Amino acid sequence: MAPTRTAIVVGGGIAGPVAALALRRAGIEATVHEAHDGTADGVGGALSIAPNGRAALDLVGLDRVGEPMNAIVLQNHRGRTVTEIRQPMQFTWRADLYRRLYDLAVGAGVRVHHGQRLVDVSESATGVRAVFADGSVSEEADVLVGADGIRSTVRRLIDPAAPEPRYSGLLGFGARVEGVGLPPTGDRMYMAFGRRAFFGYQSFADGSGVWFANLPHPYAGWDEVRKTPNEEWLHRLAGAFSGDAVPALELLRRTAPADLVSSGPMEDLPHVPQWHRGRMVLVGDSAHATSPSSGQGASLAAESAVELARALRDLPYRQAFAAYERARRARVERVIAEAHRTNSGKAAGPVGRLVRDALLPLFARMATPARTAWKFDHRIDWEARVLAA
Ligand SMILES: Cc1cc2nc3c(=O)[nH]c(=O)nc-3n(C[C@H](O)[C@H](O)[C@H](O)COP(=O)(O)OP(=O)(O)OC[C@H]3O[C@@H](n4cnc5c(N)ncnc54)[C@H](O)[C@@H]3O)c2cc1C
Repeated sequence: MAPTRTAIVVGGGIAGPVAALALRRAGIEATVHEAHDGTADGVGGALSIAPNGRAALDLVGLDRVGEPMNAIVLQNHRGRTVTEIRQPMQFTWRADLYRRLYDLAVGAGVRVHHGQRLVDVSESATGVRAVFADGSVSEEADVLVGADGIRSTVRRLIDPAAPEPRYSGLLGFGARVEGVGLPPTGDRMYMAFGRRAFFGYQSFADGSGVWFANLPHPYAGWDEVRKTPNEEWLHRLAGAFSGDAVPALELLRRTAPADLVSSGPMEDLPHVPQWHRGRMVLVGDSAHATSPSSGQGASLAAESAVELARALRDLPYRQAFAAYERARRARVERVIAEAHRTNSGKAAGPVGRLVRDALLPLFARMATPARTAWKFDHRIDWEARVLAA
């Protein structure tokens, strides 16, 4: 029997439900407390699930989600293909992944409470309770898992001096378009370093498609993104891609302002010094947010949630948290650093662009399966026993 019996999971996004499911598999009863009043159906843009994330999701019983995306074709602003990187991924909408996980968790008997925004915790010798914004307090549990995203409250409760997210210099936008007017790209996602911004798109056999763009921009909090009308963002994006030989202008023209999804400032957390304190521990973006350029945010969140559950299955919570951090930290920080370098290329100035374009073929040649295996081939052995340090 697991030494930990009960867990409070704060946050019902992606890491939260995966953690609850994995904890159940480990014999630990988990209850999810989500700040939002309702579910997150229809919210968010596109994300990719890498083979390593796919494998972690398999361990909690989530089968295929989204569309296959088996290659990335990288082009320059002249439309010339620099390289094609073959890598089986799944392309999905955050809302679809979220809904599948939510249904799976609720179906497995996980209790999910909405409208409960954690503001504090109360810890005692026997357990921990979550204190919510409306003044209500949760039942006592053995541990509290902070799966509350990049602006985590649990992170601040663990360490009041914890770092704030770092802005990459890029804003993220995207949309799903019915009738893209382009030939299907099959299972390929096309991406291009334009002269002023980064662009990606995929078009499907049914005529629909999806695009995303990363637009260099001086620091812009969410407030600025929200207060600027979508028409204006579409206009600015069109300006950024004018003259580039990529189908950005065509796709922007076919995007209704109401359909534009702004994912806001692209941010990460390169190093969170403290992942746990007492009975509290972080999982997912709260501990190791990586910018969307990695294509690994959801995958790493799923991996960490499963690893945490394994550790809690086999060890008392203090040792489990240490073992979990030891298993995860170097890996996630390597992915975050890699994505940060990619962002620097996307937000490069005129000189940086020349250097980037000159080096692009070399970097592309380096992205061989052998060199990326550390990232994509990572598999968690659920059955293996987790040992204390
Ligand atoms: C609404 C939304 C849309 C997103 N869209 C995209 C996207 O388009 N593309 C992309 O690549 N990534 C997107 N992400 C981020 C991506 O889903 C995450 O990087 C990744 O999946 C890691 O998941 P996570 O569960 O750790 O964090 P998140 O997915 O951010 O989930 C955190 C959850 O915790 C809840 N929460 C926060 N604070 C509290 C609190 N104090 N008390 C209780 N609950 C709390 C939040 O409401 C949220 O549901 C989005 C995240 C959110 C929340």
